[in-house]
Amino acid sequence: MYKLRSKHISQRLFWSMMIIILSLLFLSISLIVSSYQRYQTADRALTEISALRAVADLANRISRERAPANKVMSSSAEELAANLKELHAYREKVNLQIEQTLKTLNTAGFSAPLPQLSSNLKVSLQQGRQAVDAYAALPQSERTSQKLDHAIKQMFTAWDSCRDVLKLVLVQSEAKKTSVSEYYTLILILADLRDQAGRVASNIMAAVTFAEKMPEENLARSLQTQHQAKYLWALVNTIQPEQDKTPEYLALYQQVKTQFLDQSIPMVTRLMDESRHNQRYSLSGTQLTESIVDNFATVVNLQSYLLDYSVKVAEKDKQQAQQKLIFTVLVALICLITAFFTMIYARNGVFRPLMKAKNTILRLAQHKGIDYEGENASADPVTLLEAIKKLKSVLQQRDALEFQLRNIANTDSLTGVSNRLALDEYIKYLEKKPEKFTQTALIIFDIDDFKYVNDTFGHIVGDEVIRLVAEKLQFNVRTSDLIVRYGGDEFLVLIEQANFHDAWVVANKILKEIGSSELYIAELNENIQISVSAGVAVGAASWMALLEKADKSLFQAKENGKNKVAG
Ligand code: GH3
Ligand code: MG
Repeated sequence: MYKLRSKHISQRLFWSMMIIILSLLFLSISLIVSSYQRYQTADRALTEISALRAVADLANRISRERAPANKVMSSSAEELAANLKELHAYREKVNLQIEQTLKTLNTAGFSAPLPQLSSNLKVSLQQGRQAVDAYAALPQSERTSQKLDHAIKQMFTAWDSCRDVLKLVLVQSEAKKTSVSEYYTLILILADLRDQAGRVASNIMAAVTFAEKMPEENLARSLQTQHQAKYLWALVNTIQPEQDKTPEYLALYQQVKTQFLDQSIPMVTRLMDESRHNQRYSLSGTQLTESIVDNFATVVNLQSYLLDYSVKVAEKDKQQAQQKLIFTVLVALICLITAFFTMIYARNGVFRPLMKAKNTILRLAQHKGIDYEGENASADPVTLLEAIKKLKSVLQQRDALEFQLRNIANTDSLTGVSNRLALDEYIKYLEKKPEKFTQTALIIFDIDDFKYVNDTFGHIVGDEVIRLVAEKLQFNVRTSDLIVRYGGDEFLVLIEQANFHDAWVVANKILKEIGSSELYIAELNENIQISVSAGVAVGAASWMALLEKADKSLFQAKENGKNKVAG
């Protein structure tokens, strides 16, 4: 029964600990998984940034291709060959970059609508280039500003397709939910800014090349792109987090204003004013292109700086995520190992010893030598507290019994006063005291002519007389005094810290009490008269000496005619 019960508790303990361990495991795993995901996202951000850098770079190059293209289209017959060579070399570079970028995107996992977008890009770039080549192939006499403007616009389309690829990278990026997201937005905005900046000049290029008045549409387009460029420039600073506005960033940002906005735009505005006032243009198409192209470098520099900065942020993120992951794994392991060892310790170090202790206590409580866990075990107490309670009550019973036994051993069975065993103990107790027997008074009482009582009324009456004498003694001495039935009809009374006078008074009082009253004997249903003699002694070097002294006094009392006190 107890075994079953212990087993039951042990199982419950096991399952509780299992629940704790499983819960810890569940919490640990979900923490580890989320930490790992954060780490992976940070790692992914680095891949995505490199993809973004490749596409942004490509977009800038495609945008910049308009410069050699415009130069070719606006070049004189002498310049044409050299400019064409420059254009073709540039196109080769762009082609190579397209292939590399597509490869980078594929490796980075941006695969979904990429084939379509890349073919769109290639087709529109092809069309743009064809339009440029077709225009360049025209004899001077057939060239018009409209045809030139058309070819320029065709190149805009190529950039638009590249921007779609850039957008795809941003849309599909996982890290846009993390701290690098702002940089992604900024890269896109700066790509737009780079292109819009180029378009500011490209939109008026045809009219300037032909030294014609600028059509209203081109004026409007150029103005729009100017506003857009300024707006985008301001937007960059709004998005850039304040804490990330490093001196380097601020310098680069300012350069976009001083070198591009403050120089290129006024140059275009001046040409637009010249057109409005029907003045001769102060620059040719080629000069406009050449003087404006370098100013875009500031936008590209800022973009490149932000890309580098985002890499740093992502790397820091990754490092933090890695540290957190390691920390989480370590803490989880420590928790699990601690829980596991606690479970083992609780079982072996606490639970089992407790069960053993409980069963031992139960065995002790039952006074059984047999195995308590056997079939005969009672179905009573089962908890440790109950077992202890049971043992306590058994021990209390035993104490009571022992007390009774001790009392019986020290008590005279006939009279209830102390016997010689108790006297021996009391003597030992007095011997240990410094004053020993020097302050002890001893009175010996002996019933006078007791044989006669026995002989006349029989032993039963004799016993009754002994009992009644004991009663009288008990009635007349203090409870702290010791009354001993020393032998047949002989009693001792020991009084501590007493002088002779006190003892004498006590002895006489008892003598008078017994001698003056008749004792009622129930067995005879009549009263009889008895008397006692007493010997008093106070103080002696030893018990034997004291006893001898008192005995002598008693002898003297008997000699003096009985019913006397002598001392
Ligand atoms: P004395 O006056 O000199 O003391 O004479 P006594 O007759 O009393 O003589 P003693 O004290 O020597 O006798 C004691 C008698 O008490 C002897 C014995 O038969 C009797 N006796 C001893 N123990 C018991 C007892 O327990 N019950 C009864 N009824 N008699 C006892
Ligand atoms: Mg006697």
